[in-house]
Amino acid sequence: MKIICVGRNYALHVKELNNAPAEEPVIFMKPETALLQKRQPFFIPNFSGDVHHEIELVIKINKVGKNIAEKFAHKYYDEVAPGIDFTARDLQQKLKTKGLPWELAKAFDGSAPVGNFIPVKELDMESGIDFQLLVNNELRQKGNSNHMIFSFSRIIAFVSSFITLKKGDLIFTGTPEGVGPVKIGDRLEGFIGSRKLLTVDIR
Ligand code: MG
Repeated sequence: MKIICVGRNYALHVKELNNAPAEEPVIFMKPETALLQKRQPFFIPNFSGDVHHEIELVIKINKVGKNIAEKFAHKYYDEVAPGIDFTARDLQQKLKTKGLPWELAKAFDGSAPVGNFIPVKELDMESGIDFQLLVNNELRQKGNSNHMIFSFSRIIAFVSSFITLKKGDLIFTGTPEGVGPVKIGDRLEGFIGSRKLLTVDIR
């Protein structure tokens, strides 16, 4: 199982981090050990003083595929969950400044909590999937899948032209604006529509 992530996929988030808009999806990966086990708290790692939350829609690949055409890509996933792409922003900034890969700032243990999945067919894809993150009951981030620069289908087509997708692989599809630091004692809650599907306590 692998975890593939897309960066810079919402225009306002690209702007808030002063990044250039991407012409192609920006892809990175997290290892399986980044998954945060259900009901486990997230411990802020000692190598960072600035871990940010990034709420994202996560799709789960349901069959093997390589060089998937964009028009058939919707057949390769049928469930979606909210997830958090925890990012050690200070470390990422340091690595970016040096022109180095930012992997360690994104791929560390527990950096990928994923909530409960719900069937895509229960959602109205025409009006897009609404999702949001509450921190201590306050709205911090909200997005809609229709605002993605690269759609689920485009991401699947693009990634599978380089990397074979397999059943069970997860794709984090990018975060909307409003990212920010977490602190010990925070409770993060991820929603799709009005359904709370993810809870993470910060320790
Ligand atoms: Mg992200």
